[in-house]
Amino acid sequence: MTKKISTGLIQQLQAAVGPAGWSCDAEVLAPLLLDQRGRYQGVTPILLRPACTEEVSKVLRICHQADIAVVPQGGNTSLVGGSVPDEAGNQVLLSLSRMNRIRDLSIADFTLTAEAGCILASLQDAAEAENLLFPLSLAAEGSCQIGGNLSTNAGGTQVLRYGNARDLVLGLEVVFANGEIWNGLRALRKDNAGYDLKQLFLGSEGTLGIITAAVLKLFPRPNHTETALVVVPDAEAAMALLRACRAEVGEAVTRFEYMDRASMELVLCQIPDIRNPFAEVHDHYVLLELTASHGGEALARGLETVLEQSLGKGRVIDAVIAQSGRQARDFWNIREGIPEAQRKDGAGLKQDVSVPLSRLPEFLARARPAVAAAFPEALIVAFGHLGDGNLHFNLNQPHGMDAESFRARGPEIHRLIYDIAVEMEGSFAAEHGVGRLKREELRRYRPAVEVELMAKLKSTLDPRGILNPGKVV
Ligand SMILES: Cc1cc2nc3c(=O)[nH]c(=O)nc-3n(C[C@H](O)[C@H](O)[C@H](O)COP(=O)(O)OP(=O)(O)OC[C@H]3O[C@@H](n4cnc5c(N)ncnc54)[C@H](O)[C@@H]3O)c2cc1C
Repeated sequence: MTKKISTGLIQQLQAAVGPAGWSCDAEVLAPLLLDQRGRYQGVTPILLRPACTEEVSKVLRICHQADIAVVPQGGNTSLVGGSVPDEAGNQVLLSLSRMNRIRDLSIADFTLTAEAGCILASLQDAAEAENLLFPLSLAAEGSCQIGGNLSTNAGGTQVLRYGNARDLVLGLEVVFANGEIWNGLRALRKDNAGYDLKQLFLGSEGTLGIITAAVLKLFPRPNHTETALVVVPDAEAAMALLRACRAEVGEAVTRFEYMDRASMELVLCQIPDIRNPFAEVHDHYVLLELTASHGGEALARGLETVLEQSLGKGRVIDAVIAQSGRQARDFWNIREGIPEAQRKDGAGLKQDVSVPLSRLPEFLARARPAVAAAFPEALIVAFGHLGDGNLHFNLNQPHGMDAESFRARGPEIHRLIYDIAVEMEGSFAAEHGVGRLKREELRRYRPAVEVELMAKLKSTLDPRGILNPGKVV
């Protein structure tokens, strides 16, 4: 059990990080204490903003000795309430935002060594400046931080080609609960010397250690991009289109996203300056992107061939291939505008599920009627990373119903959708993690042996339970 924070301890923490490294100002703290979805309002007596790994270590040493809970925070874009303290006011908020140096970019090693507080977009820019690519990409990239991305094993829109955040990491620097620093910043492509310890911290949502820096993989930057917005008759056809694209252009298939009719209608209605590229609104869309380092013409031809053949087979109803970078951006603005459009339209019940690729059409065919029968007035808004088998199968508040009554239906609706996904060998937490929101689901849907092993790992690495208590396990 963690303890109350005394004035003496606050003074020790202030001394550990120096005058620029802390704040108790309510105005500074306010935006950091409310989670992204406005669901959890935390309380803390102090925000700590260490400038270096040694300061993080000092903070943890003090908190460990005194049994004080520490909540690490990156950009605070967590969608599962992982990055804010609880309401009791006894947890220290540890922001990594001042640790935002790129320590090294090695063209020879194809690596970038960054501190945890670097904004994701700044790492993409640094790679681009050397004509290289850091492929992690998600709508929150202008504010989320690499430490947060790695701690949540973030997914995003290029997982299909480059993998999740954990696949982009070669080495880590981590501060353990007792303040000990582990320098595992190795830039090795091959290293089978015992257990792969960095994997413990990737995706552990700040419950096993504080990530302070990472060695990240860089890739050759593709010079050619083809983007198409495609209308398909159903999800089966969308998956057939994915297979056809991969058969034709192989690993060039980089992004493959899905949007339903409600997603498109919401964006057109709620987001200014968004134009419908088609004459009408359709039931199912795929937004796909192909990229390649060479052979731009072949790539364009490949896309045309697939679309023509799919049209002929009735698997594509209509398609627009972007004629410029600007038009491609316009298509992405539709896809990336969906969460904001949903928010503007009213309250939402959000799901982040995954199933094996082959079962995605079946998931939609089962979940849609089940949810419509249980809650006919609600608007289903389904979109997501189809190429990864990951859907955000969301519901929006019916007009005329108040937000509170709508949210009260949450547990029943979440359960209904998770049950279907898990029955189909899927996951209730595809990319956003467990955080505070889905702890109960972790216990319900994962075998006891898995949950017990997680608890054992937690008690080994954090025996006093000071790291982000109340999250995940
Ligand atoms: C508009 C929008 C779109 C999004 N799209 C995606 C998406 O496509 N794919 C996806 O996976 N997620 C997505 N997310 C969720 C979120 O952006 C990601 O989970 C992101 O990786 C979190 O990064 P952050 O820096 O904001 O971390 P935070 O929200 O601050 O923290 C997330 C978790 O990591 C812990 N943590 C943070 N930093 C550290 C550290 N240095 N060491 C240890 N623990 C730490 C926190 O305690 C918390 O548990 C989206 C969010 C928004 C708002």
